[in-house]
Amino acid sequence: MHIHIVHAHPEPASFTSAMKDMAVSVLRAQEHVVSVSDLYAMNWNPVASAADFGSRQDADYLVYALEQRYNWANGSIAPDIQAEVDRLMAANVLILSFPLYWFSTPAIMKGWIDRVLLSGLCYGGKRFYDQGGLRGKKALVACTLGGQEHMFGKDAIHGEIDAMLTPLLRGTLAYTGMDVLTPFLGYHIPYLDQKERAKILEDYSARLLSITNEAPLPMPSLDDYDHQLHPKSR
Ligand code: FAD
Repeated sequence: MHIHIVHAHPEPASFTSAMKDMAVSVLRAQEHVVSVSDLYAMNWNPVASAADFGSRQDADYLVYALEQRYNWANGSIAPDIQAEVDRLMAANVLILSFPLYWFSTPAIMKGWIDRVLLSGLCYGGKRFYDQGGLRGKKALVACTLGGQEHMFGKDAIHGEIDAMLTPLLRGTLAYTGMDVLTPFLGYHIPYLDQKERAKILEDYSARLLSITNEAPLPMPSLDDYDHQLHPKSR
């Protein structure tokens, strides 16, 4: 399998970066081909703009998704995006590795999503969820948090983690057609002792051994919706 890790942490010696480094060695030891986009190390530009397009369908008014579609079809997407698209399309499994920032991804990773998950390639028209352009790939979110596990849940102070991660798990990864695995979450990372953090690395390592065989989370199927996307059972 080809596994691509998109990693966002500004500190190479961080715990989240240690998780990423461990994932690379564990997966390579399993004979997987592993590639990494280390977004801070690459100085990745997260800003979606007109500069992303070598040609324009409409030179006077920027509709970003329409220009993505036009430039993808014409092979005129900016080279930094094209390189990431090539890595994504070569992968069977995508791992997003990051610390939770404000209930979400760091901005640099959001900018990778905005610029790399191209309209026309990854989604567009009625090509989304199980008809999305990235169907056949699996996606795993590997995320560290400051909060403790008991702070997340139905009646917990921060609410349910699945709801918090819905924009990413459902609105992005499942929307573009990927099979989304249960996220790996490392809670309370800065406040644990070294032994407790080592245990999280061990748990992540064990989890990585099974990701290629895991069943995905349930997500919508277009088969269950009519042509106007009302539920058929309504
Ligand atoms: P680090 O601080 O880099 O590491 C923690 C400790 O682990 C350090 O002492 C480091 O030396 C040590 N370490 C490094 N490598 C290893 C190793 N191999 N083995 C053992 N120990 C090691 N948290 C939330 O819960 N919800 C939020 O909404 C949220 N929003 C945030 C927004 C921002 C802008 C920021 C900056 C933080 C936010 N946080 C939030 C907290 C953040 O998610 C955590 O601080 C982060 O996940 C901790 O992971 P880290 O890799 O940065 O840890």
